[in-house]
Amino acid sequence: MAPMWTPFSSRRTQPRQTARSTPRPRPATARPRTAPRASRRPAGPLPWTRARGVLNLLNLTTPLGIAVALVGRARIRRGPHGLWIAEGYRFRYPMAGAFTVGNVVTTASTIGRLERVMPDILAHEGRHASQYAVLGPAFFPLYSAAAGWSWAVAGHSAAHDHFETGAGLVSGGYLLAGQQVPLRGLFRDAAGAGRRLRALLGRRGGRSRAGTATRSRER
Ligand SMILES: [Zn+2]
Repeated sequence: MAPMWTPFSSRRTQPRQTARSTPRPRPATARPRTAPRASRRPAGPLPWTRARGVLNLLNLTTPLGIAVALVGRARIRRGPHGLWIAEGYRFRYPMAGAFTVGNVVTTASTIGRLERVMPDILAHEGRHASQYAVLGPAFFPLYSAAAGWSWAVAGHSAAHDHFETGAGLVSGGYLLAGQQVPLRGLFRDAAGAGRRLRALLGRRGGRSRAGTATRSRER
């Protein structure tokens, strides 16, 4: 698929070494095969980012992300960690600073501008790419359900959304560091009751274990 997007990938802002998701061809003066792999590659989760790229190609979420970006007339280029960056997206939906489909991170703005207010935005979107690699197209209904759940229990579409908490609420620009969104009253009461029940069962379990230990010592 890569040559298809070559015309859009001229504005490379990352070093090639981190921007590529496929292994670089060995140069003619390649080191002997006995050279440790770590000396040729930067440390980090490169095998997973590579696998993620392949999985999202095969499950068709990355081609879908490219199609969405093209329909939105975004400029597409390669980004770090095997991601594709699509900037200048023209449509208002979805209403997010950036959204990720497969390995494609799309924004109406530019990643550079977003990073001024959300320095870790690409790490956040990369975690969504990993979620796509695991779930494939099932990501869409599951994400919608999780966002709906978060909205229902807290009136906030991300704060209690498992996908967003997994990707990082602060890095995604949803919350400030240390900020929390409380559950709505009914759910807060239910959660509180659940916590009290667990604490009660824990105390009883502890007491009965202690009783057993005492009896066993008395024998
Ligand atoms: Zn997110």
